[in-house]
Amino acid sequence: MADASRILVVEDEPAQRTLLVEYLTRQGFFVTGQADGAALRRALLREEPDLVLLDLGLPGEDGHSLAKYLREQHPRVAVIMVTAAGSTVDRILGLESGADDYLPKPFEPRELLARIRSVLRRAVPVAPQVSGPKVPIGRRILDLEQRVLLDASGIEERLTASEFELLKLFAENPNKPLNREWLLEATSHREAEAFDRAIDLRVTRLRRKIEHNPAHPEAIRTVRGVGYMFVPAV
Ligand code: CA
Repeated sequence: MADASRILVVEDEPAQRTLLVEYLTRQGFFVTGQADGAALRRALLREEPDLVLLDLGLPGEDGHSLAKYLREQHPRVAVIMVTAAGSTVDRILGLESGADDYLPKPFEPRELLARIRSVLRRAVPVAPQVSGPKVPIGRRILDLEQRVLLDASGIEERLTASEFELLKLFAENPNKPLNREWLLEATSHREAEAFDRAIDLRVTRLRRKIEHNPAHPEAIRTVRGVGYMFVPAV
C-alpha cells in the first residue's frame, strides 16, 4: 500500500519550501506547505497532518513556540524540527519543546526521508480495539499496544513518539539501571548526536506524567553516575 502519510512543511523561504514539498510529494507523501506559524495554525484547524516538518527560524512565532503548541494541542502530530543552526543548545531546545527529532541544515534529502519514516513508524497508532500488554508505572499504566498512558479510570494521556520509546525501554527493563547513552542511542536513532541532557529532559517530562510526586520520583529513579531505573511498585 502506498505511504499516504500527510506532511505539513512550515518554511518561510519560498524556494526551500517548494523544494521540500516537491521532493516529499515525489516520495509518495501527501504534502502541503505553509510559510509561517499563523498559516500552520489555520491549516491545523482544517486537518491534522501526521507530521509537521518545522523550520526553527520563522517570521513571527518561531519553531520552538510552534512545537510546544503542537505538543499541547495536537499530541498525535509528529514534529521534526529543522534549523540552520547546528549548535548543541538548539538541539536541546528542539527536543525540549517537544520535537520528535531534530535535523540541522543543510541536510541530504535522503537523510530527511529516513528521519521522517523513522518518526512516522514510531508514531503509528495500533488499532484501538486491540488490547495489549499493560505495565503499571507510577500512577499510570503504560499500554504497549496502544502506545498511551492510562490512569486508574482508563483516561488516556498521549505520549510523544520519543516519550513512548523511552517509557517502553523502562517497562521492558524493570529494576535494571539503564545507562544514559544507551537510552539515548536506543531511542533517538542519532548516535552521533547523543546528548545526555536530551534523555534528562525526556525523563523530566515523563515523570510529570507518571509520578505521584515528580519532585520525589519513585517509579523512574535516578541512578547516580549511570542514568535511570524503572522500579515497579510492589
Ligand atoms: Ca527560516
